[in-house]
This record gives sequence, C-alpha cells and structure tokens, in this order.
Amino acid sequence: METIVQTVDEESLHQAAEVIRAGGLVAFPTETVYGLGANALDAAAVAHIFAAKGRPATNPVIVHVADRGDVTQVAAQWPEAAARLAERFWPGPLTVVVPKSAAVPDIVTAAGPTVAIRCPDHAVARALIRAAGVPLAAPSANRSTELSPTRAEHVLKSLNGRIAMILDGGPCSGGIESTVVDVTGDRPRILRPGLITAPMLEAVCGAVDVAGTTPGVARSPGLMAKHYSPQTPVVLAPTAAEAKRLYQHFQHASTRAAVVGFDPRFATRAMPNDPRLYARDLYATLHELDDGRFDCIIVELPPDTPAWAAVRDRLFRAAAKN
Ligand code: AMP
Ligand code: MG
Repeated sequence: METIVQTVDEESLHQAAEVIRAGGLVAFPTETVYGLGANALDAAAVAHIFAAKGRPATNPVIVHVADRGDVTQVAAQWPEAAARLAERFWPGPLTVVVPKSAAVPDIVTAAGPTVAIRCPDHAVARALIRAAGVPLAAPSANRSTELSPTRAEHVLKSLNGRIAMILDGGPCSGGIESTVVDVTGDRPRILRPGLITAPMLEAVCGAVDVAGTTPGVARSPGLMAKHYSPQTPVVLAPTAAEAKRLYQHFQHASTRAAVVGFDPRFATRAMPNDPRLYARDLYATLHELDDGRFDCIIVELPPDTPAWAAVRDRLFRAAAKN
C-alpha cells in the first residue's frame, strides 16, 4: 500500500475521514504524539492498527473523542472523578479509564470491561474525529516498542507502506504520551505518568495512587517493559558526573557515545531544564541521535520529582532491554 502524506486542509481532512469511514488507517497529529487512527466502533478497522504496528493484542488502545459529551458513545458509566478530571483537563493530555459500553468492540479494550478515553487538545485531531463522525481508536503511530513519533516524518520512517495516509500537522507541542488514570476504583490510579502530573490530579480529585509497574517509581527491573526505544542502546546516568564518567569509559573502549544532558558544554544534545520543554523535545532528540552515528546514547536522568515523573518513565523504558 502506498502511504500518502498530506498537509492539512479541508480537502485532505475530507479524504482522511473517508479513509476512516471505509475502515482504513490515518496517522494524525495530537498535542502529545502522532496517533494512528481507526474507527473505534469497527473491530476490523481496529485490527488493522494492531497489524500495522505489530502491537500485541493484550495492549488496549485509547479511544479519542472530539467533545466531552461524546463519551456517552463509548462509556457505560461516567464516575464523579471522570467528570471532574474531564472538566478540568479536557481537551488535553489526560486519558481516563471507565467501564466500556456495548458499542466498543473487544479488540479495543483487549477484551477487558473498561475503555480508555481522551479528548485531544489539537484542532486537526478534533476536526478529523468530527469529519469521520465516529470516535477514533488511536495508539501512537509507530511500530510497537519503537520511539513514538512527534513529527510526520517520524511516522513515515516507521510505518511507510503499512498505512493509507498521514496528515502532516507539524511537530507535536506536548511530545510524550498522555497521563492514563483509572477511575473505576475507590481512588483514581495513575497507570501511566504524563504531562498532567500527580499533584495536578490531586488538586482536582483528592489523593491518587500510582500503579507499581511504572519503572521510574517501582524500580523493579523485571517490570521494565521495553517501549519507546531507539535502535541504539540507551544508558542512563543518575548524575552529570556519572554521565561524564561513562562517556570517558566508552571513549577508551572506542565506543561512539552521544550524551543527552543538561550541560551545554558537555552534552551532544543539551536539553531544557524544564519538564514540559524537555518532554516536547525528547523523542525528536532520540530519533535524531538514532541514525547510526552512535553506538550508544548516554542520558543524564532528570531529578526524581513529580514534575519529571513522566520524562523519567519514558527514559527508563527507552533504556529497558526487554
Ligand atoms: P498507546 O496507545 O500506545 O499510547 O498506549 C495506550 C496506553 O493506555 C497503554 O498504556 C494501555 O495499557 C493503556 N490503556 C488503554 N486502554 C486501557 C484500559 N481499558 N485499561 C487500562 N489501560 C488502558
Ligand atoms: Mg505507543
């Protein structure tokens, strides 16, 4: 199949909506990363997402709606915490997990009783959902376990020939995937950290739990699911001094190492000392350094604070071996 890349206008949005309605796949920009969209109410269409990405059937996908009111199409219940969080953070990089309605096919939820829903804060994403007239099931638009795409060219690199169309809406402003919060229990539970931090959630809905499988939190190597990874091995350094030591060590061993860190005098890529700006640049930086020039990428870890939790989570996953 030929993958068409289109800039966004009325005509290409119309064409993309036609592809979705016909059961095909369209990659589109959101404020987090590029999504790979299919009609969430059509099991066969969603199956194409899993095939194109090589995604295991056990990993459910997020359903994207254009407006808060549209959750009734896919949610069987809308708990109080969901209402509060959506009121405060939608449209935005927050996904809530709630009981699913009968309209949602099993493949979307990995056969589970809950569905993950998000309303993206991106005009193109919402225009596409509206034009298609159906909610969009959309994981990140990359092959499974690889780096997520924050530009149309990243999508093309990973999925060329496997999907019908890419809507090129320029670089994503958020840069990492949404925060996922399960609100089906007594207390909201963060399943995946993101740009909406634990303190931000707590300000709206009281105490929240954090799922123990988050590598940056649990520190359990066995639970470090490899994900969001470049081809080039990533080595984490807890401090700038350790990054330097590792760099020198690799130099002696004739290993070509790139350094992602905070000190512009030392780093191959100096990163912003602000979690939001760092997140925006993270995947683009790793995509760039993953072009074969280096044998490994040393990353100086940001501090272990709630504001940096999502960035640290993605770095731990990028460095995980399996
Ligand atoms: P991705 O679409 O690749 O950004 O990943 C979607 C994330 O949402 C994964 O971490 C999934 O495990 C999570 N997710 C999606 N649907 C559900 C669900 N029904 N229950 C719990 N987590 C979910
Ligand atoms: Mg993904």
